[in-house]
Amino acid sequence: MNDEVSKQIINTVKQFIKNDVEPVVKELEDQDIYPQELADKMAELGLFGINISEKYGGLGLSYVNLAEIFTELSKGWMSLAGILGTHTLACYMIENYGTDFQKENYLPKLSKGEIRAGLGLTESHSGSDVQNIKTHAKKNHESYKINGSKMFITNGSKGNIFILVAKTNLEADPKYKGISCFILEDTDKGFSVGQKLDKLGYRGVDTCELLLQDCEIPLNRLLGTEEGKGFPQVMDGLETGRINVAARSVGVAKEAFNLSLNYSKKRETFGKQIKDHQMIQSIIATMATKIEAADLLVKKAANLKDKGLRVDLESGMAKLYSSEICQEVCMDAMRIHGGYGYTKDLPIERFYRDAPLMIIGEGTNEIMKLLIAKRVYENHF
Ligand SMILES: Cc1cc2nc3c(=O)[nH]c(=O)nc-3n(C[C@H](O)[C@H](O)[C@H](O)COP(=O)(O)OP(=O)(O)OC[C@H]3O[C@@H](n4cnc5c(N)ncnc54)[C@H](O)[C@@H]3O)c2cc1C
Repeated sequence: MNDEVSKQIINTVKQFIKNDVEPVVKELEDQDIYPQELADKMAELGLFGINISEKYGGLGLSYVNLAEIFTELSKGWMSLAGILGTHTLACYMIENYGTDFQKENYLPKLSKGEIRAGLGLTESHSGSDVQNIKTHAKKNHESYKINGSKMFITNGSKGNIFILVAKTNLEADPKYKGISCFILEDTDKGFSVGQKLDKLGYRGVDTCELLLQDCEIPLNRLLGTEEGKGFPQVMDGLETGRINVAARSVGVAKEAFNLSLNYSKKRETFGKQIKDHQMIQSIIATMATKIEAADLLVKKAANLKDKGLRVDLESGMAKLYSSEICQEVCMDAMRIHGGYGYTKDLPIERFYRDAPLMIIGEGTNEIMKLLIAKRVYENHF
């Protein structure tokens, strides 16, 4: 994909936000309604195939472009980035670890958004402690029988396929060697969607429990060809996921900042625009600097990913920093908007409610710090 075409796609996303999203976002958010029409429009724009190769019908964009798209979507409504987030992660995992059959069978449909994907990793008792998952896939002659449950699964009720992470060997030592990934279809017998969670933010997009009761899936739905490879596969997938979460944080922060700039030029106190109070300028300067730094971290991680390098350190740093500053910037935006920022009339309160998800999701920031420290020590000679 050449630069000109990538730019056009990003401009199209900006237009989509302005023309299609802005007029409806408040109602969908307030009523926690799944944005079906917007999701269908995103499919028409080809966004479900942003990171799938052109060979399989995708746009084959770079991770730098993917990050830009997640930033633009999140300026409009972070929940839209949620619909694409684990979908792109699953697409990445299928394209990079799937068999030819799996790639040919799923990627063309995923590209068009005819089927939509999610990631089933977290369980009710184990989020950060991935190796402690209990969902178990037992191999028979012709199939795997899977029992267990998954929690907090984005696209849980709207997704058609899920990368399901399960134990194929309960005795493995170390535990991660007993983990495998599967492609679960929503029509699989024994699979059902449990409760849909009511959330502080990230509304509209569905976050559900997934239930697997003697769920039988054919052997060829093991991701790749070998059991026990699921842990590195999903960790690699999460590296890309962290780039998208960091990019979302930048988007939410940028929009909160932009609204703050506008407001500071309009609002007057003590006989002048509030932008002329030095204490407001101090807040604005700090917000601008944090956003710039976060943006650079995201671009660095995405750039390295485009070069095919391991980016757990860089995507971890980008995710950690961007999500933390996003929360701070949203609070500062609320300060600048005064009482109005606290009302539902303006989107500032939505940004403020959406920001914590980026701190928690795709690995909490405490886990990011553990990962970063480990890699920093490894690199220190
Ligand atoms: C809206 C939403 C959508 C999500 N979507 C998905 C999805 O699509 N697919 C999916 O698989 N998961 C999803 N998740 C799950 C998410 O990734 C987990 O919630 C997250 O990884 C944290 O796991 P946990 O909630 O079990 O918290 P825990 O792991 O129980 O952590 C609780 C606290 O302890 C801290 N902690 C844990 N271990 C350590 C340690 N070793 N050192 C220091 N502190 C530690 C954590 O940082 C956190 O502060 C979603 C979550 C939310 C809220």
